[in-house]
Amino acid sequence: MKSAVPFPLSFEFFPPKTPEGAEKLRLVRQQLYVLKPEFCSVTFGAGGSTQEGTFNTVREILAEGASAASHFSCIGATRATVREQLTTLKTMGVKRLVALRGDLPSGYGGGGEFQYASDLVAFIRAETGDDFHIEVAAYPEIHPQAKSASSDLQAFASKVNAGANSAITQYFYNSDAYFRFLEDTDALGLGIPVVPGIMPITSSTQLMRFSDACGAEIPRWIRLRLQGYGDDTASIKAFGLDVVTDLCEQLRAGGAPGLHFYSMNQSAATIEICSRLA
Ligand code: FAD
Repeated sequence: MKSAVPFPLSFEFFPPKTPEGAEKLRLVRQQLYVLKPEFCSVTFGAGGSTQEGTFNTVREILAEGASAASHFSCIGATRATVREQLTTLKTMGVKRLVALRGDLPSGYGGGGEFQYASDLVAFIRAETGDDFHIEVAAYPEIHPQAKSASSDLQAFASKVNAGANSAITQYFYNSDAYFRFLEDTDALGLGIPVVPGIMPITSSTQLMRFSDACGAEIPRWIRLRLQGYGDDTASIKAFGLDVVTDLCEQLRAGGAPGLHFYSMNQSAATIEICSRLA
């Protein structure tokens, strides 16, 4: 079946923590497969928290006949453990990785052999050649721990120069930040596709919590509108659909090479936005 949406889509899931969550995610995936995603990716917990869950969910996606990308974070990891996990992923038939530094769980004591995602990308290339398509993270609104905007851009360039094939951005609601980032990467001659990460808005409190943690800016007008809706979830969802569909339209019109949805293991908002874009 042809995708209803005439450009590449990908969907991100997190590994479910319970059997009920796993069952629900199976259903969500079936609903999203109708949109014919290029791949579905599964996040990876730093410091050992959900790695088995990541691999199990990736196995299920592959068994369902879809293309799966495993996120892979290196903070706290050793070369030996990364080598072992790469072998496992290759044996599973995974062809695409999202290579990340990751965020340390609180209380973690250190001891890893990788400092930045660029070290991981270089290691994967050295160990496995071209076996994997490597995605990396991009931050149009600047990574929260970056020393400066220019050092963050340089960090992105290091990942590309180490062998990344393409990138997915942190979510944002200001398309200008994304277009400016593309101009900057073009000026450096980096030349890899940078796919915007799209976070549907379905809950005000959840969005504020995530955005504070990852440094994504919620424009003041969106924040105030969401606050104004209080507990009126129907209005929050309706507003969120309008705002995020408009954003996707701007991104597509400006030449974004695809859209990567942070599904949050839900299908309704992503399906509705894609049907409005079709
Ligand atoms: P890096 O690219 O290494 O950058 C981290 C910081 O170091 C930045 O501030 C950068 O400017 C700086 N830096 C990099 N290189 C240098 C250098 N040589 N000198 C000085 N400073 C440098 N987290 C997870 O734990 N699991 C996931 O599955 C996951 N999936 C994600 C998917 C996407 C698409 C995105 C955008 C983020 C994801 N994250 C995930 C979050 C990510 O792990 C965090 O944002 C993390 O803090 C940074 O990871 P990174 O790979 O971007 O790191």
